Amino acid sequence: EKMSSAEAIALENKYGAHNYHPLPVVLSRGEGVYVWDVEGKKYYDFLSAYSAVNQGHCHPKIVGAMMEQAQTLTLTSRAFYNDKLGIYEEYITKYFGFDKVLPMNTGAEAVETALKLCRKWAYEKKGINENEAQIIVCDGNFHGRTTTIISFSNDENARKNFGPYTAGFIKIAYDDLDALEKTITSSKNIAGFLVEPIQGEAGVYVPTEGYLAKAKALCEANNVLFIADEVQTGIARTGKLLAVNHENVQPDILILGKAISGGAYPVSAVLANDAIMNVIKPGQHGSTFGGNPVAAAVAMAALDVVKDEKLAENAERLGVIFRRELAKYVETSNIATLVRGKGLLNAVVINDTEESDTAWNICMALRDNGLLAKPTHGNIIRFAPPLVMNEEQLLDCVAIIIKTLKQFEK
Ligand code: PMP
Repeated sequence: EKMSSAEAIALENKYGAHNYHPLPVVLSRGEGVYVWDVEGKKYYDFLSAYSAVNQGHCHPKIVGAMMEQAQTLTLTSRAFYNDKLGIYEEYITKYFGFDKVLPMNTGAEAVETALKLCRKWAYEKKGINENEAQIIVCDGNFHGRTTTIISFSNDENARKNFGPYTAGFIKIAYDDLDALEKTITSSKNIAGFLVEPIQGEAGVYVPTEGYLAKAKALCEANNVLFIADEVQTGIARTGKLLAVNHENVQPDILILGKAISGGAYPVSAVLANDAIMNVIKPGQHGSTFGGNPVAAAVAMAALDVVKDEKLAENAERLGVIFRRELAKYVETSNIATLVRGKGLLNAVVINDTEESDTAWNICMALRDNGLLAKPTHGNIIRFAPPLVMNEEQLLDCVAIIIKTLKQFEK
């Protein structure tokens, strides 16, 4: 009766439209750092749904909060108030140190919201003429898949033939303060700087130490909003609650998604102080599902888990071990050339071209060896396990990764 992996994949390929490029493995259960496929084979999850499942699969506290709320009230829309929303909004704003939150559902939707907020602020508070605001973005960015967001993507595959594109963005090199200073001071129409504190989809690219703090100072000096997209890097992933915390930066606008809910439910958020957020007046923005009571209950439970289980500290400590152990291997390897990252957001660079299928083939072999990871490029594999992992499990995973890489040595 039970469907095999091959049957499940065939069914999906027949009726599901193309979008992702999934590794051929069909999962039907998860617990903590482990997932199981439909044949019952157990794997370490080393992707965490692109850093959404930071609290581990099916965390009992998160599932419990979701079940309880699901049996009470799931959705009112924002046509009415619900009794959980204000409590959640107080909780999350205090948690991250902002005056206000605008609750949304997905990462891309929160990025869109932040861009709208920044533009409205520019026209109503900074005095830029309507339709002339410019937002600075970075080469290699990934912020989602909407038409506006792909307008400034570098990824031709994500962009080509989806135009016409949205105007109002200036792209500069990532991790380049000179370019930022030159662009920020080049025009009175610069409204914001949208940046990933570490570029995840670009291949886990960590900027030079001090970049974020100096970029924030440049924004401040020029009355430009510093907008941090922490959808992937936030919620303890890089060894601090937020990646900007490594440089003591408080963004003007903070974008969160993914792990706010521990991956249990789509929840995203835009946070800012009153002076910025209050430019959006009643009726000017919204979402049927944004701020629903299940999202509120799940997010509070998931954020509780981050603090109660000290996930940032664990990510910091295990990240050091992960990079140290893999760096030792890389020194003598002719297949892996570099390990980089912060906390438990890391990548191994493979000795081949961006267009090769080597990283993909290594991920297939990792799968066979019981560990699930995905390449960002033909020569880069991202490693982002749930943050509830312990040291013994991490060392077991390091052994699997090294054993697998050795199979590909030339
Ligand atoms: N911003 C960043 C930095 C991301 O990594 C992602 C997802 N990978 C997004 C935005 C988009 O999030 P979603 O897929 O939930 O729309």
